[in-house]
Amino acid sequence: MKKTTIGIVGYGNLGKGVEVGLKHSVDLELVGIFTRRQPDQLETSSPVYHIDKLVDFKDTIDVLILCGGSQKDIPTQAPKMAELFNTVDTYDNHNEIPTHFEKLDKVARNNNTTAVLSTGWDPGLFSLNRLFAEAILPKGNTYTFWGPGLSQGHSDAVRRVEGVKHAVQYTVPKQEQVDAVKNKKSLDYNKQDAHKRVVFLVLDENADEKKVRESISTMPDYFYGYETEITIIDQATFDRDHTGMPHGGTVMRQGKTTDENTAVYQFGLDLDSNPEFTAAVTIAYARAAGKLAKEKQYGAKTVFDIAPSYLSPKDPKELRKELL
Ligand code: NAP
Repeated sequence: MKKTTIGIVGYGNLGKGVEVGLKHSVDLELVGIFTRRQPDQLETSSPVYHIDKLVDFKDTIDVLILCGGSQKDIPTQAPKMAELFNTVDTYDNHNEIPTHFEKLDKVARNNNTTAVLSTGWDPGLFSLNRLFAEAILPKGNTYTFWGPGLSQGHSDAVRRVEGVKHAVQYTVPKQEQVDAVKNKKSLDYNKQDAHKRVVFLVLDENADEKKVRESISTMPDYFYGYETEITIIDQATFDRDHTGMPHGGTVMRQGKTTDENTAVYQFGLDLDSNPEFTAAVTIAYARAAGKLAKEKQYGAKTVFDIAPSYLSPKDPKELRKELL
């Protein structure tokens, strides 16, 4: 069987995750990594090309996995690349997903390509599970708890505070609220009250600790209004315990099957590495994009539009026998 050929666009955390993840897929083959930097700057044994060379690979790459940042890279890169290639991205700016879809759909339909957007875990697997839970239990409430996990945006914001040398911020769901939903109790949920912000930081020499603490806990949009815990640690503890990128969370729905009976639907993830897991999901959707394009199912697709069997390297007959 001919393997589906893959190109990686952008070599950050996610791009590196896709590179290692592809080694676990017998039916997919990495052709190369495409970067805006000088190719010889990247430390990897895979073939690396400058992004300007991408067009030369139009007939050799079946699917491009777009690993750029959601804020600045994907909104411009994805529509441009969908003119020539089938693509998959992990675009996670939830409010802008409908606009991203419309743009990609137009380009992909005009150029006979398939563009799968917003894969990963949230958006992605969490979105799918919110849909399943709501469709199955129409009378009820859905709750999403994020974490415990590292928030890159909040960690960056703390690092910018004067007097902070290194910092990480973990988003931690309040266990009593998670337990309340699991135990079929009613819950007045809002995102801010349902999560705690936990900061570990190393201070600069001569930093004013009181001022640092105050600047963090009063920071608008990021910390103000949240229960925030700040722990000062030394460099060795930081290096030992806080350099990974864990994340995860739970989607839950409490629904009534009758007035007397409640059902709790739960889907949870506990990830040592957020980018490696996000990459693993994206790889499965790249396989799906390859199959959809072969069937001439062009246009933009989200996780809601793709049948689960398209994600698997196994054929439908094997799937029915082994997993149904
Ligand atoms: P990142 O490490 O910041 O990489 C983003 C881009 O920046 C890379 O593609 C790379 O492009 C460039 N870059 C990386 N390291 C660089 C360096 N040392 N110097 C200069 N440029 C560098 O971001 P990431 O952690 O891979 O995350 C990518 C996106 O994934 C995020 O924006 C997020 O939206 C999305 N995500 C989605 C989910 C989900 O569940 N849907 C989960 C996690 C993340 P070049 O190689 O072209 O320079």
